[in-house]
Amino acid sequence: MTMFCYQCEQTAKGIGCTKAGVCGKDADTAALQDLLVHAAEGISQYAHRARQLGAVDNEIDVFVIEALFVTVTNVNFDAEQVAQWVTRAAEIKDKAKKLYEGAAGKDAEALTGPAQWQPGGTTGELIAQGQAVTKTNAIERFGPDVAGLQELVLCGLKGTAAYVDHAQIMGVADDGVYAFFHEALDYLAGEPTDVGELTGKALKVGEVNLKAMEMLDTANTGEFGHPEPTEVRVTPVAGKAILISGHDLKDLAELLEQTEGKGINVFTHGEMLPALAYPKLKKHAHLAGNYGGAWQDQRKEFDAFPGAILLTTNCLQKPADSYKGRLFTTGLVRWADVAHIDTGDNGAKDFSPVIEAALAAEGFTADADAETITIGFARNAVMSVADKVIEAVKAGKIRHFFLIGGCDGAKSGRNYYTDLAQLVPDDCVILTLACGKYRFNKLDFGDIGGIPRLLDIGQCNDAHSAVQIAVALAGAFECGVNDLPLSFVLSWYEQKAVCILLSLLHLGIQNIRIGPSLPAFIGPNVLQVLVDTFNLTPISTPQEDLEAMLG
Ligand code: SF4
Ligand code: SF4
Repeated sequence: MTMFCYQCEQTAKGIGCTKAGVCGKDADTAALQDLLVHAAEGISQYAHRARQLGAVDNEIDVFVIEALFVTVTNVNFDAEQVAQWVTRAAEIKDKAKKLYEGAAGKDAEALTGPAQWQPGGTTGELIAQGQAVTKTNAIERFGPDVAGLQELVLCGLKGTAAYVDHAQIMGVADDGVYAFFHEALDYLAGEPTDVGELTGKALKVGEVNLKAMEMLDTANTGEFGHPEPTEVRVTPVAGKAILISGHDLKDLAELLEQTEGKGINVFTHGEMLPALAYPKLKKHAHLAGNYGGAWQDQRKEFDAFPGAILLTTNCLQKPADSYKGRLFTTGLVRWADVAHIDTGDNGAKDFSPVIEAALAAEGFTADADAETITIGFARNAVMSVADKVIEAVKAGKIRHFFLIGGCDGAKSGRNYYTDLAQLVPDDCVILTLACGKYRFNKLDFGDIGGIPRLLDIGQCNDAHSAVQIAVALAGAFECGVNDLPLSFVLSWYEQKAVCILLSLLHLGIQNIRIGPSLPAFIGPNVLQVLVDTFNLTPISTPQEDLEAMLG
């Protein structure tokens, strides 16, 4: 075994990737990412104690968030670059140690565990250090349930870190959230084994993730306005073209400004689709529409796209040679021999290389037949028609709501979500979010008295909007969310889906269905706890599940 990673849904054989990642992550990168998490725990051991003594340092806080995001599935595949993160982590750990020792004075404790780690001098030595802290150690020492719960907490933190990072890039941060990250990583550094305590910590991650998603909502809506129902084109228009994928709206805003008047159309891909509904983004006439579907189709779709492609966050797949030369990454996303756009000293990004690649490429030679879908049903848009929705429920015109969404993925079995959406009766409404929507978002579901039967809430982080909508409905009907005619059917793939699930469980939401398979790190006893406490249920067949949910 040269590596061990079981943090995402496509893990090998549903157990763990042991030679190379199914995602394309090689064993060296996996070891370095494990070491980076280990180093982040060491940093937080000091930062947590320093903070309790009133000493904080924003550079340390931001670094830990970014370091966790680097290790999220489909973000960074570049071993040399992850090694640089590890080297930097050693410097930040020294800084955190000084911060703590300065605050504690003669009372400073000598910390053990990851706090004591010192980096090897070469990349090879760092890789060996990473291999010594892989998850197999935890499984061997603590058994699958405890190790799995530790992984659940860590995965939740990784997903939440992604949202905190997006928000902090846009100037929205929260000291309490940073404090929790240090507290939780310090907790993991102590190798906790109490199942009840670990479960409680996982739910606490869910609570903090709600705050993180709210921060990101504040950042996005504050900068670009509230999403509004918008008909968007999903077929090509003639001309030079750039395709932008990932979740980072700020990158899109900068790209749109820099491409203004250059004769280039910008298309969204994957999780960037919801950007087309934000007033201050869609005002750009050259934001032409969406191209393609979810992340796992990118090798086929990027190959066919006749322009430049920009990946702002996950989910990146191993690029094919056919488009590698016109593919660019930015932010924390990396692939070893793919051009990267860094943030400049002025805090802005210069997308000139992307623009030049788009101008050099052929572009679309003709308009395709126009096809559109409607998006933009985030909390503000839905709340503005809440009276109509409540009236329709009271009149028996809307029988049930289904939230069918989450990550998409490559493995078979995900047609369940298409089949389920198609089977949903005509007097029911489907709410959706994240890239799982591509399983059915181009189908025509019609409307109920003017209310569309398919309401696309937005990106995965817009689960915050979904929660707000559910809470508002519960308020209107003077009941709890669990008493609403509302069923959650989630598809998971990676760590953002994990933190969203933890948020829903923290809110006490029962009867969530999850698929296409359960996380490999959830041990049998932990699963039983989740079933007993929350009635969390693996998906079955669309017919059986629908009958149970409507029953
Ligand atoms: S992220 Fe997923 S596919 Fe990649 S190595 Fe880890 S478990 Fe395997
Ligand atoms: S929703 Fe999940 S799977 Fe989809 S692009 Fe975002 S992180 Fe990746």
